[in-house]
Amino acid sequence: MAAVDRAQKPSFSKSLFLGSVASELVMPYRLQEGQDRANTQRLVASARDCLSTFDAQRAEEERWIGDDTFRDLGERGLLGLFVDPEYGGQGLSQSGYCRVMEEFGRVDGTLSVVMGVHQSIGTKPLHLYGTVEQKERWLPDLAAGRKLAAFAMTEPNVGSDAYNLETWAERQSDGSWLLNGEKRWIGNGDGDVLTVFARSDLGHVALIVEGGSEGLETGPRFDTVGLRANRLQRIRFRDVRVPADNVLGEPGDGFRIAMNTLNNGRMSMGTSITGGMKRFQELALQHTTTRRQFDRALIDFELVEDKIAWLQMQIYAVESMSYLTTGLVDRGEADFALESAMTKVFASDTGWHALNRVFQLHGGEAYMSGHPLAKALRDFRIFPIFEGANDVMRAFTALNGVKALSEHLPDVTGIRISDPAKAVGVLGPYLRERVGMRLRPERLEGASPSLDRHVGAIAEQTARLRGAAEAALRKHGSRIQERQLVQKRLANVVTGIYGQVAVVSRLSAVIGRDGEAASGAERTVATTFLESSAREVGRQLRSLETNADSATREIGRAVRQSGGYPFEL
Ligand SMILES: Cc1cc2nc3c(=O)[nH]c(=O)nc-3n(C[C@H](O)[C@H](O)[C@H](O)COP(=O)(O)OP(=O)(O)OC[C@H]3O[C@@H](n4cnc5c(N)ncnc54)[C@H](O)[C@@H]3O)c2cc1C
Repeated sequence: MAAVDRAQKPSFSKSLFLGSVASELVMPYRLQEGQDRANTQRLVASARDCLSTFDAQRAEEERWIGDDTFRDLGERGLLGLFVDPEYGGQGLSQSGYCRVMEEFGRVDGTLSVVMGVHQSIGTKPLHLYGTVEQKERWLPDLAAGRKLAAFAMTEPNVGSDAYNLETWAERQSDGSWLLNGEKRWIGNGDGDVLTVFARSDLGHVALIVEGGSEGLETGPRFDTVGLRANRLQRIRFRDVRVPADNVLGEPGDGFRIAMNTLNNGRMSMGTSITGGMKRFQELALQHTTTRRQFDRALIDFELVEDKIAWLQMQIYAVESMSYLTTGLVDRGEADFALESAMTKVFASDTGWHALNRVFQLHGGEAYMSGHPLAKALRDFRIFPIFEGANDVMRAFTALNGVKALSEHLPDVTGIRISDPAKAVGVLGPYLRERVGMRLRPERLEGASPSLDRHVGAIAEQTARLRGAAEAALRKHGSRIQERQLVQKRLANVVTGIYGQVAVVSRLSAVIGRDGEAASGAERTVATTFLESSAREVGRQLRSLETNADSATREIGRAVRQSGGYPFEL
């Protein structure tokens, strides 16, 4: 459990809110090496081989990836990627695991989700928090694909507000638990090993419930827009007795286990989406180089070429950020919760925009059912929603950063951001004095000297983030918790900076490995992205000061009052 206890570890992005750049956490870019790299490459090749005949259309029609495919994946070790070898797994690092997940994402969105549910959130809690006995009991079967895992948190009345679960676990005198409640939208909910989150008199608990337990009812299955091969289930617990040995961690640890599992799992969404975007690019190239209009290939038009170039830069950025984040996990020295959330938001938003653009380039062709992009459209729409809705993740990122800043200010030690009355009075005068001070920009260390201009831009943006976060605290005090428009912009700024850091860090490593000349084409992609991201961060920073927030809030309130669109033409 100590391995995932991040309480005392430094956070790169929280440091950005303080105006500091914790270079040692992100430099040099962690390129996989040694046995881990070799194992990853072997498993990537095996996944390619196994999935070369995978029929996504058929899986969608049959509404399951197929027992044969699942068995084959298990036999090849592709279902126990991060599980320790002593429990029958491959023991891959987080980067290695996420690299193989990229391969699944490249083949099919649904496949990547089924793999993610089984491994990233289904098997992960046992891997992170299980006792030796619990691991021996369940992990070998899960890693081999003889059993299927699920993560059961969402309920009819509980979605984003996951703390307030209604499923209840009552501890019995013999130490066992009696579980009652209902879960919905649970992938693999009809599986064999379910990590179920509930509340109890002792706080939140994480319980392993085995499929077939008495009182456990599953179904009927949900009929979904996309991801139709993902077995999304309702689950009801009616006095389900869960043995004392099936508690993960300690009673009271359940919420932390759920959040850490999601923090850990979210970054595989980043790499799966990277894989999906690479596939979209293949389709875009295929189509725009062969389809001719106005006597030319579509790609010969500037507006088409521009979209293809944009896609190249976005793939580069999402990939760089995703693997910088997995590298943070592998270093084992950092708190990666914010970076994981930012990666999820950036990848899912960018992936969706990318799909929309590639869809557009296909004209009417992609609109025909059966086209892979039509299916991708249905599959990909869920990514900004599940495993933490993107707006909730933005608020989470900004509030954590601002909280870190408020704790760092010596005069306000002990003020909790969640204590409005106390915080406003003390933060105000202190921050008025501080905000006026011009911070000396802190620079990312260890980057290639040829990227100096971009390192300077990152330093400047970081100093401005610190100033903006302080100004927001001064203006709103602990009411910042309610100011979501401010939170959104702060989150966008820090995500933009983190993305630029990822690209600079990666390109520096590539230049170090291949030399300046060899990395020329990559450099153009990277630096063009850096410039456009810096412009966007500038825009977000400016909109913290000049915006139409009061007017839009007024409009929002008026819409609620009028109950719709009241204007007659
Ligand atoms: C295909 C699919 C697979 C899933 N798989 C699983 C699974 O395996 N296990 C599991 O436990 N759950 C699963 N879920 C549930 C999923 O995690 C939830 O849908 C998600 O957490 C969001 O909850 P909700 O849908 O109830 O949306 P709500 O919480 O009702 O939120 C709806 C929207 O309101 C806005 N919103 C909500 N809160 C805030 C806020 N604080 N600030 C600003 N805006 C806000 C956001 O725009 C959000 O998208 C799955 C869902 C789907 C559709």
